[in-house]
Amino acid sequence: MTSDDRMIFRSAEIISVGTELLVGQIVDTNARFLSAQLAEIGLSTYRHVVVGDNLERLDKAMRRAVSENDLVITTGGLGPTEDDITDVVTARLIGVPLVSNQEIKSRLDDRGRTTPPNYPLIPEGSLFFHNDTGTAPGSLTFFTFEGQQKAILMLPGPPSEMEPMFLQYVRPVLEKHSMAKFIHRYVRLTGIGESRSEKMIRDLIERQGEVTIAPYASPGEVVFRVSQRLEHGDEDKTDATVEAIIERVGEFVFEVGPRNLAEVVYDLLNVREETCAFAESCTAGLLSSSIAAIPGASKVLRGGFVVYNDEMKRSLLGVPVDILMREGAVSAACVRVMAENCRLRTGADYAVAISGFAGPDGGTADNPVGTVYIALARCSGVFAKRFFFRGGRQRILKQSVAAALNLLRKGMIDG
Ligand code: ATP
Ligand code: MG
Repeated sequence: MTSDDRMIFRSAEIISVGTELLVGQIVDTNARFLSAQLAEIGLSTYRHVVVGDNLERLDKAMRRAVSENDLVITTGGLGPTEDDITDVVTARLIGVPLVSNQEIKSRLDDRGRTTPPNYPLIPEGSLFFHNDTGTAPGSLTFFTFEGQQKAILMLPGPPSEMEPMFLQYVRPVLEKHSMAKFIHRYVRLTGIGESRSEKMIRDLIERQGEVTIAPYASPGEVVFRVSQRLEHGDEDKTDATVEAIIERVGEFVFEVGPRNLAEVVYDLLNVREETCAFAESCTAGLLSSSIAAIPGASKVLRGGFVVYNDEMKRSLLGVPVDILMREGAVSAACVRVMAENCRLRTGADYAVAISGFAGPDGGTADNPVGTVYIALARCSGVFAKRFFFRGGRQRILKQSVAAALNLLRKGMIDG
């Protein structure tokens, strides 16, 4: 009853165990992580279930799950305490005892982890997965249920234990039980909204066959995910679709691959051995932190200024009172000076300045809420651009950051 290499998992169900999940104390990130992982290796998840730490209800949920799906994955309830019951319920359902395992024990001993005498236990005959960041091991047990082959995979609850265990030990095993694998390619756009970009590739979406296109949008970014399900011997046909998308919306594409806009900007600066600095009003540091979030940011980010009110724009960045009075802080003239002086004072190759009305209050007749001016200063000069973004405050700020990064990206490429 150990590993059955011939078994193909056609469907999976994920059961997250824990009363904390039911009372709203924590969010079920395990199900999200696992579903995304399963999709990548070509296994379909048919259901997510959350059950409290209760013997009868968990037993009922597990029985229904194994009757409907080949693979049932549980997370949580594997610890040594009284309320950790997942292993007990699983072993009873499968009809095997829970046993201790010498290899698991000695590995924990080597790491200096002391554990209670009868812990950890796994269902007899199961494959097990070491827990390098905690104590509860994972296990995969194959068994027959009502005449059919089934498998239960038990994983620990804490994401800091479950995720590394899954990636390192569990995923390679599950891949062997998948009939297919998925290829995903990502075409990333900025400076265009979801509906307009979708319209531009509508014919491709309508004609899609084995290669599918799925759009995703977040403020400032639209991603077209191009996917194909490959079974042994199938040819990868995603190239043609990616090229067709680029043909239509190429001017908005900043990346074909995994990187977000900040990472693309970071890499560009890095290879050119150039630096940037930011002068931010409404975004108050968001733009800087989008670059600072990337490891190695100090190579390209010199620093910057948060100049939220007019007085700071004047005293820290030398915006003339005259401009602030006549044109206002949300103006092309203001961001031009902010960018130029930011570049001079930091010594960066590029400086970007942002000033705008993020709302919900404020704005003027000419520059209503959503109006954002962004300027780029570089050695060849400075230029400013007016943007208008729709949505609430957070959306406007995120779109401002994306527009600023994109202006910087284009400024580097155009020279
Ligand atoms: P432990 O050995 O820590 O007791 P366990 O496998 O018994 O691990 P639980 O006791 O069920 O797991 O959960 C431990 C912690 O893991 C929870 O308090 C919670 O912080 C986190 N956790 C559990 N399930 C989930 C989930 N589905 N999504 C996100 N976090 C979770
Ligand atoms: Mg526990």
